[in-house]
Amino acid sequence: MLVSVTEMLKKAKEGKYAVGQFNINNLEWTKAILLTAQECNSPVILGVSEGAGKYMTGFKTVVNMVNGMLEGLKITVPVAVHLDHGSYQGALDAIDAGFSSIMFDGSHYPIDENIEKTKELVALANSKGISVEAEVGSIGGEEDGVVGAGEVADPAECKMIADLGVDILAAGIGNIHGKYPENWQGLNFEVLEEISRATHPMPLVLHGGTGIPEDMIKRAISLGVSKINVNTECQLAFAAATRKYVEAGKDLEGKGFDPRKLLAPGFEAIKATVKEKMELFGSVGKA
Ligand SMILES: [Zn+2]
Repeated sequence: MLVSVTEMLKKAKEGKYAVGQFNINNLEWTKAILLTAQECNSPVILGVSEGAGKYMTGFKTVVNMVNGMLEGLKITVPVAVHLDHGSYQGALDAIDAGFSSIMFDGSHYPIDENIEKTKELVALANSKGISVEAEVGSIGGEEDGVVGAGEVADPAECKMIADLGVDILAAGIGNIHGKYPENWQGLNFEVLEEISRATHPMPLVLHGGTGIPEDMIKRAISLGVSKINVNTECQLAFAAATRKYVEAGKDLEGKGFDPRKLLAPGFEAIKATVKEKMELFGSVGKA
């Protein structure tokens, strides 16, 4: 059964580790992440952006696929299906389809409108036991066509949004989606500390986990980050392994063209990436 992220992230915050959110795109992605979580005895959050949801033919397909795998693969660790960067309508649709957690990204609205919409969604989600993530201060880079400037969140605004009853909070602290540029300034730990103090004991979320140096990840966790989003890194690992297979001409040998063979190296690469992240985040053995 899918669970919300409330309990798993409360435990993570208390235990000073973070739970990874790994975004899914298809069956291979989902299976690889679920199997790795089970092997590592780690809780896990499957992230689904609206674009990936559409790609997989809708939120209902996603929920049914994941539920089928929980049964078929005998997954017993806590698993949440979480809407990543949801619009207002997307959040309503995800709740309706059976997601166990949603993120409402109202960061591009004026703060008053962000508050109004967040309140409405919190009331609806909480009545169904679904957790809600809110965002303050847009996170840089591109996510499904929405380009954020990578601003740093205002701790007072974070406190305002946290007080609306959301379960977890994503705050921009100089992190960005996708690959980080050469001249990246790093995470702003001063602001993270202020936000953490202002919103305690709310678990905080770090988006754009790909390419942040390990020492920064660990320091962020020590300052109250309990959920870290990983997306691009699995995509890069999958693409590199698939490229290697094709460039070695393996698809031309025997039944190497069989999708179950062709996609296997990429599948294994996702598993390795997820395992590495779970070890770094400290969630191994915490299910
Ligand atoms: Zn994000």
